[in-house]
Amino acid sequence: MLYSCVVKKSSGPQHTLAAPVQLEGVGLHSGKPARVRLFPAPAGHGIQFVRTDNIPAPVEIPATYAHVVNTRLATTLGNRGVTLSTVEHLLAALAGLGVDNARIEVDGPEMPILDGSSAPFIQAIQQAGGTVSQSLQRVTLALRRKVEVQLGDKWAVAEPSSRLEIHGSIEWDHPMIGRQEYHYVDGVTPFAAIADSRTFCQLKDVEAMQRMGLALGGTLENAVVLSEDGILNPGGLRHPDELVRHKVLDALGDFKLSGYAIQGYFRLHRSGHDVHSQLLKAIFAQPENYEIIGSSVGSASAGTQSVGSSAGRVGVSSATGRLAAAF
Ligand SMILES: [Zn+2]
Repeated sequence: MLYSCVVKKSSGPQHTLAAPVQLEGVGLHSGKPARVRLFPAPAGHGIQFVRTDNIPAPVEIPATYAHVVNTRLATTLGNRGVTLSTVEHLLAALAGLGVDNARIEVDGPEMPILDGSSAPFIQAIQQAGGTVSQSLQRVTLALRRKVEVQLGDKWAVAEPSSRLEIHGSIEWDHPMIGRQEYHYVDGVTPFAAIADSRTFCQLKDVEAMQRMGLALGGTLENAVVLSEDGILNPGGLRHPDELVRHKVLDALGDFKLSGYAIQGYFRLHRSGHDVHSQLLKAIFAQPENYEIIGSSVGSASAGTQSVGSSAGRVGVSSATGRLAAAF
């Protein structure tokens, strides 16, 4: 794939986008159309979302764990009562490409789901020229002691490591799943190996989700849907272990909300956005848990500087709208 050669290093200079990027589609849960525009941002700015449909004043929502307001089926950020859902797949794309600084304008309450993975974001960024290095050095959070979180039968453990490693495991009583494990090593595992793995759900849960106003934009074009004994998607799975790969992708996106590059070894079992969010909060709750390596300038939470939202459009991706093959 186009982005298979990308190898991100956790140290070295910060990076931003080479040029603005635009994508359009519908939100997985809201079913509402949304346009997202990604803009380069200065070194030290961090990742910041902006709800541009909030009239008269757009609302900036920093991409930090402190702004997580909901973790049910997706990661939702909020600021001053304005929220933005399903940010994790774009954040995973930015983590995988090593993007430290970007301003992300969205004109609706939820990010477009596109094909249910991070691949469309990566392809659009690559088609617009990829990333460029900046003047400041990347700032890294290094785990210094073990931190654990358990929520029922879901748990996560973070331990010190010289690099970012994520070991995901899932266990479902389903003939297509059973127990799956996947080990991702940042800078070693090709990001393409996880980037195209799609979000998934069980058919029996779809009706209940839709009664709760969720999964309204879901189709077989943007999610893997599991029946009692197989999957409904005509094209099958992209990888035999696509589901656990997607779990690792979700974790990579959620951990981007630390605001830093991360050095740590994460073991995640049956984890989801709630566990990932709780784990970040637990890490930051005790200063002894971690060390910040690099300049004091550059954390995502520090930056509020805005950049030219009037910059020209480059690299428009194909839209993935709601299709007839809804579950
Ligand atoms: Zn996901």
